[in-house]
Amino acid sequence: MNDQSTFSQRLSAVQQRIHNAAVAAGRDPNSITLLPVSKTFDEAAIREAVATGLHRFGENKVQEIVAKYQPLKDCNIEWVMIGHLQSNKARDVARYATEIQSLDRLSLARALERRLQNEGRSLDALVQVKTSPEPSKYGLDPADLPEFVREVARSMPSLRIKGLMTMAINERNDEAVRACFRTLRTLRDEVRDLAIDGVEMERLSMGMSGDMELAIAEGATEVRIGTALFGQRPYGDAYYWPETP
Ligand SMILES: *Cc1c(COP(=O)(O)O)cnc(C)c1O
Repeated sequence: MNDQSTFSQRLSAVQQRIHNAAVAAGRDPNSITLLPVSKTFDEAAIREAVATGLHRFGENKVQEIVAKYQPLKDCNIEWVMIGHLQSNKARDVARYATEIQSLDRLSLARALERRLQNEGRSLDALVQVKTSPEPSKYGLDPADLPEFVREVARSMPSLRIKGLMTMAINERNDEAVRACFRTLRTLRDEVRDLAIDGVEMERLSMGMSGDMELAIAEGATEVRIGTALFGQRPYGDAYYWPETP
């Protein structure tokens, strides 16, 4: 990537990649949403992105959403929580986010529901599923998914489940990466077939800067893109996924 390029040039390049991958997979490019991931990038960088028409951003740490919320309030940004969330920080997500894609356990869902009721708000939610054998990845065990979705739908009216999210195995092996994405799609289809009341099971958030083409080939409806849009982050991935070896 060329460091002299502007945000808008990098955005065009990413949109082109999404378009090409969709066409190659025989899919409608408009059926794939881009979620820009602004983690570690400052107000100025996000304003540059907003100027291109983007208004929805993913963040991995809720502290960053809290820090950016007020300074960027005039931009009317929808903040999407995509990282591991400790239950004791549920209040900040209930207050400042419009969506969480990292809903991965019942204790967190219950904490969010309680905080959302206090705030008089509701949230769209994707269930993060563990699709990789790596010990390091967060996410619900696939075997627990149907019961989890039933329980949220039955007793947590402030959380609206819309689909699933995953992070693929961190390996330079396309087949292993695709297998993770395929697993997520299969799980989505299986849970959708259960037709649980109040649950929409359409969205598949999968694919990042390095593997978006594979994810789109396997049915992603949304790709979460950081580096390819904003550039290299100042910290390594271990800062975000502390359990990464
Ligand atoms: C950082 C992050 C991304 C984007 O990663 P890139 O490789 O920079 O595109 C996607 N999903 C999650 C959960 C992230 O934390």
